[in-house]
Amino acid sequence: MKIICVGRNYVDHIKELNNNKPKEPVLFLKPQTAIINKGQPFFIPSFSNEIHYELEVIIKINRLGRFIEKKFSHKYYDEIGLGIDFTARDLQLELKKNGLPWEKAKAFDGSCLIGDWKNKKDFNNIDNIDFRLTKNDEIVQNSNTSLMLWKVDELIEYISKFFTLKIGDIIFTGTPAGVGKVQLNDKLKGYLNDNELLTINIK
Ligand code: ZN
Repeated sequence: MKIICVGRNYVDHIKELNNNKPKEPVLFLKPQTAIINKGQPFFIPSFSNEIHYELEVIIKINRLGRFIEKKFSHKYYDEIGLGIDFTARDLQLELKKNGLPWEKAKAFDGSCLIGDWKNKKDFNNIDNIDFRLTKNDEIVQNSNTSLMLWKVDELIEYISKFFTLKIGDIIFTGTPAGVGKVQLNDKLKGYLNDNELLTINIK
């Protein structure tokens, strides 16, 4: 399986990092080795002094497809959840400055937390779901899927032009504003509406 991530999909987050609004979705991949095993903490890696959390709505692909038209995208997923795209922001800034790929900053071991899944039928409209992240019980990210520049079904159409989607692939749909640094012993929790779908300790 593969993990396809979307960058710069919320205007407020683009602004907080002083990035430009893209004309097309920004995509990057994480390998399977980035996934944190269930129940494990996030270990701050030695190569970064600035690891950021990025809470994102995620979807799981349930059938094989490529060149999927937007109107058929909904047939390619049943489950929706939350994940954290852990990012070595210091390293990413350095790479961006030099026009280099982001993988070291975005796809390292343990950079991907996948929470519990919900069936999309539990939601009236997947383009209008609240989600939030708390750090040590304080809300740090709080948004709604209606604020995505490209909605889930549009992302599937776009991504599948480049990458064949396979059963079990996961799409990270981008993070809203409020990203920030994690510190030793922080505890993060993510909620989709009021369902707590993920929790992780920082070590
Ligand atoms: Zn992200």
